Amino acid sequence: MKLYFYNTLTRQKEEFYSIKPGEVGLYTCGPTVYNYAHIGNLRTYIFEDILKRVLIYNGYHVKHVMNITDVGHLSGDRDMGEDKMEQGAAREGKNAWDIADYYTQAFKKDIARLNIVDPDIWVKATDTLPEQIALVKRLEEKGYTYRTADGIYFDTSKFKDYTKLSHQDLEALQEGARVERNPEKRNPTDFALWKFSPKDSKRQMEWDSPWGVGFPGWHLECSAMSMKFLGDQLDIHCGGTDHIDVHHTNEIAQSEAATGKRFFNFWMHGAFLIIAGGKKMAKSAENFLTLENAFLSNDINPLSYRFASFLTHYRKPMEFSDEGIEAARNGLLHLQNQVRQVVAAGIGGDKAISAEYKNKFLGAVNDDLNMPRAMAVIQEMLKSSVSDTVKLTTILDFDRVVGLNLDQLDQERALPEAVQSRVDARITSRTSKDFATSDRLRAEIEAMGYLVQDTKDGMKIIKK
Ligand SMILES: [Zn+2]
Repeated sequence: MKLYFYNTLTRQKEEFYSIKPGEVGLYTCGPTVYNYAHIGNLRTYIFEDILKRVLIYNGYHVKHVMNITDVGHLSGDRDMGEDKMEQGAAREGKNAWDIADYYTQAFKKDIARLNIVDPDIWVKATDTLPEQIALVKRLEEKGYTYRTADGIYFDTSKFKDYTKLSHQDLEALQEGARVERNPEKRNPTDFALWKFSPKDSKRQMEWDSPWGVGFPGWHLECSAMSMKFLGDQLDIHCGGTDHIDVHHTNEIAQSEAATGKRFFNFWMHGAFLIIAGGKKMAKSAENFLTLENAFLSNDINPLSYRFASFLTHYRKPMEFSDEGIEAARNGLLHLQNQVRQVVAAGIGGDKAISAEYKNKFLGAVNDDLNMPRAMAVIQEMLKSSVSDTVKLTTILDFDRVVGLNLDQLDQERALPEAVQSRVDARITSRTSKDFATSDRLRAEIEAMGYLVQDTKDGMKIIKK
């Protein structure tokens, strides 16, 4: 079945194609590790996880790279403000390297709790300094850079199509960007490739470079890393919608200026999480909800949040509230109970995946990851007249995409070895119409504390 994604670059749903047949290079912008991820950030990683699982479900081999921003992300837009890592270090009285390690581990724990599949390659910004410096040199040789008192900048006026991703009006953008003061910048949209360490104080994270001691600009790392690890497989690049106007726009400008080639064919962006009342969640705001304080500390399975995120399409803002948490929790419990019922209901019946529902499910997820529709298909399937064993096989197949650990419910009811071996033997004896053996095995299973029922859907084994 064909696969369609909405591409921010072209502003339309397009049929997906990969550069190399059967393989996809996927780059997802990772966290800036100066604080915990809030659940708005995590929504984006869930959307990217679904994207990756859908690609795999469609038979692609995916090579996924995610960066860890542990230097160079400043608190203000357009290279103003303080380095967030140094801010985090000052806030907690630790050094920036320890802060980075601590919050990297916290992030990895969060995504594991959400059953997000790890990238194939994790890469820290501070581990790719040589590649980032080489990229600035390349841009310098091609005449795209200039020097100011505080760093080396990219001249955006030299790159035509600067706004091809954001589709913004460049003049309006220049006006908007003018409010921030850096009189040495030639154009308000120009951005730092390399920033110098301040003369009056020593930074905790700084490196030598051909231009002087300092640190890389935030946008640089994602270009350097994706080209290093994905090279000729620049298929899909993702992030939150807040990355479109500046971060991803600048990544495209510096990468395409350096290579003269198109940088990524597909750009996909996840929408914000909005707190009931209309506020966007931010680390600086009071409503800084994390997996820990919104779910774990209230004894709510964090997968409830994963479940909740499926009910709003990834390109639409998702509203979040206490009632929303409660509804998500109940929604997941309900689904788990439905699956437990089909698990308990049949053994030894037809184990084929329902082609009808698989088709419907694929139709939903392949249509720009339409998870609300996919969840409706799951409900339709579970309530349908297909047999319980088929329901189980089918839902476990869908779980390869939804990732709600439904297979654990199947394992939960795993029978003791001695019972299972007799069940297997009884299925064989019934198939060969050896009813004497079948009856003997039934008596043995019942003596072990289980009821045996033969139904049209197969054998049911129920604990007495
Ligand atoms: Zn990035």
